[in-house]
Amino acid sequence: MHILHIASEFAPVAKAGGLGDVLLGLSRELHQLGHRVDVLVPKYDCLRMRFLSEMVKTPFTFETDYKGRKIVNSVWEGKYAGLTVTFIEPKEGFFERGDIYGQVDDIDRFSYFSKACADYVSAKGLRPDVIQTHDWQTAMIPLMLKEKIPVLFTIHNLHYQGRCDRYHLDYLGLKCEDIGDPVDARLINFMKAGIVHSQAVVTVSPTYREEILTKEFGEGLDETLRQHQKKLFGVLNGIDVTYWDPGNDPVLPLKYGADNLDGKRRIKEDVKKTLGLSEGEKPLVCSITRLVPQKGIPLIIRSIERTLEKGGQFILVGSSPIPEVAEEFQKLKDFYKGNQDVVMVLSFEHDLVHWIYGGSDMIVVPSEFEPCGLTQLIALRYGTLPIVRRTGGLADTIFDLDKYPETGNGFAFDQSNAPSLDFALDRALQLWHNSRDGWNTVVRRAMSQDHSWSNQAGKYLDLYQKLATKKIYEFA
Ligand code: ADP
Repeated sequence: MHILHIASEFAPVAKAGGLGDVLLGLSRELHQLGHRVDVLVPKYDCLRMRFLSEMVKTPFTFETDYKGRKIVNSVWEGKYAGLTVTFIEPKEGFFERGDIYGQVDDIDRFSYFSKACADYVSAKGLRPDVIQTHDWQTAMIPLMLKEKIPVLFTIHNLHYQGRCDRYHLDYLGLKCEDIGDPVDARLINFMKAGIVHSQAVVTVSPTYREEILTKEFGEGLDETLRQHQKKLFGVLNGIDVTYWDPGNDPVLPLKYGADNLDGKRRIKEDVKKTLGLSEGEKPLVCSITRLVPQKGIPLIIRSIERTLEKGGQFILVGSSPIPEVAEEFQKLKDFYKGNQDVVMVLSFEHDLVHWIYGGSDMIVVPSEFEPCGLTQLIALRYGTLPIVRRTGGLADTIFDLDKYPETGNGFAFDQSNAPSLDFALDRALQLWHNSRDGWNTVVRRAMSQDHSWSNQAGKYLDLYQKLATKKIYEFA
């Protein structure tokens, strides 16, 4: 099949979170299965070029009507992992801002990108069997395509919706009626438009699919989702096991695997020494996360306190786009200054996190909601046992050891409060202290579990097939 992905991220070249990881992992798997996979992303000035084996500006250019003007776009092609990634560079300078997100005009940057991608499809005469779009940034594609190509829209996180005023539509030459939103014609919602106008909608875990149909998790779109639930599917994310591989990770000073945990032990020593943690046999707990309310900020803070109370050590690698939250964590960092059992790195650290996944014993993921979550899957692969709140994709991937002694791979709790977190964390720390053999048995089990895309890509292919043969209209 021929699949065209259009997205705002592609790891590791343009990554701000899990979305980028999914683009890499799913595309690489589909490519390896022999399908033609094209990927379109913006040409940000902050691309991590060192990952691209080739990057050339093609002679091809095309125009996009925007705000009543014609803007010329250049097209670049880069190669990563056998995939050709196409980068769209508008003359307007929308993507020369030093960062992927966080600009006041993000709505215009990404709606422009969506329109340019629709123009690119026409200008190049592309006829993929299916176009897969990702989150609000590319949700408007079905309204902009001139060709009749089925669109599968992926909801990676329903919280971010691209809500805006109608004048943003004017820039694109669209009208409110095109969106067909009967609820509030003055308030435009890109995510909602994607749900309504795409031929199929996929969320990134089966549990999140069920959750977002409820008022509690629906982020104001539960009614719309219920109306369209026949075309709503839940496909669990995988991880790219070639990129995330402790047996072959170029960032790690040593390689290791389930049959050689000594390497992991030595990486832990290395991490502790380099980051200035005190010596001695202590459990090392980590959190690697965007610091936003979704991720359970009070419980992240609590997990640091509890780990210290129980004689462990903690490493937080987290960055926040919210100034008040960034400030709160800066204060916490100051508070722990001089404490040799805590390290706080308050930035996005592409390379460092590989090492932290490798060197830690446990990771805490106490999310309020979690569409899928990739950190717990990466941690499993690196033999770092997850302690998670049972919600969304965390509920689909982490099984509590006390409940499932033979198959469990971590520790889970239900309520979003300190006693529930403490109970799960305490059980993890207890096992670590009381039985190192027991702990290592579970570590080996976690590392042997298969969370690769090979298990999940087939589910997408099945949907692509139905869309391409128009059977999708049975869903709608
Ligand atoms: P989300 O997409 O909601 O941020 P996920 O768990 O799906 O959460 O994916 C997060 C991805 O971003 C993982 O690959 C994780 O390793 C990475 N990540 C999160 N925070 C940081 C950070 N501060 N530095 C580097 N990588 C990070």
